[in-house]
Amino acid sequence: MKKFRINPQTLAIERVEHGFMYWLRRSGLYILSGMCLGIVFFFVYFMLFPSPREKQLIRQNEELESQVRLIDKRVDQMQVVMTDLEQRDDNLYRVLFGAEPIPLAVRQGATRKMSYYDELARMTNSQLLADLMLKTDVLEKEMYTQAKSYDEVLELAKTQEIRMENIPAIQPVLNKDLKRVASGYGWRIDPIYHTRKFHQGMDFTAPIGTEVYATGNGRISFVGWRQGYGQTVMVDHGFGYETLYAHLYKPLCRVGQRVKRADIIALVGNTGKSTGPHLHYEVHYHGKAVDPRNFYFYDLTPDEYDMMVQLSNNFGHMLD
Ligand SMILES: [Zn+2]
Repeated sequence: MKKFRINPQTLAIERVEHGFMYWLRRSGLYILSGMCLGIVFFFVYFMLFPSPREKQLIRQNEELESQVRLIDKRVDQMQVVMTDLEQRDDNLYRVLFGAEPIPLAVRQGATRKMSYYDELARMTNSQLLADLMLKTDVLEKEMYTQAKSYDEVLELAKTQEIRMENIPAIQPVLNKDLKRVASGYGWRIDPIYHTRKFHQGMDFTAPIGTEVYATGNGRISFVGWRQGYGQTVMVDHGFGYETLYAHLYKPLCRVGQRVKRADIIALVGNTGKSTGPHLHYEVHYHGKAVDPRNFYFYDLTPDEYDMMVQLSNNFGHMLD
């Protein structure tokens, strides 16, 4: 591009001649502004239109998020099942076997400090993931406690089985039609002194020599003569239970011997303070005599039990 100017002295029009530096500066300026414009366009373009790689990343990100949401939903469902298990454990199994329910604090345990999850939320820039981690942690702890509780319940069930074998649960003499029940537990008139007296056990009439059974598994704790009771045998069943068999003709066991339910331990007699051949039977729980009629549950149907209750309330035939 040619340029001209007027020379003020000669007033002639002269051609302006530019040096090399002028042209360098000038072209440099053009290039620089062009580059600036290019950079601006470049950034605007990439801000508005993602690149194929970015598109791929965005898609992956969306997929991951929906997967995390799916897992989150499944963890929620697992939590519902877990709660059901815990409730069943506390309300049924643990109560059934006489164990205290597990407090909620123990079940969920000391979870991590909330700041841990806050940090996680910042790190992954996703509250969702932090929530998920918190839920899984709680669930994990609950599952651990639950498994331990089941171990405990299993142990209790085993103990319960032994307990059921040990506690008195049959009649001490064969008594199919219940005709042998003479007198039950409670206040009675003494057959000899005709005064009011508390009868600590149940009397079964039976001929001398009738077999007497241990009413539950246990260990013979006493064999010998007791004042008023005559020849007596006692069985320690554990779990706080003891049974006593009195007025015997003859004991057929020795102290320390282990016996099973329905083992023959003695023969019916008429020894001690007794007005006729019969077996006097007592059930003790933690050292105190309790009503034996509640300890025949392996022997009696509900109807027979009702009959037993009626018969044991019979006042007339206490044989002491
Ligand atoms: Zn009696």
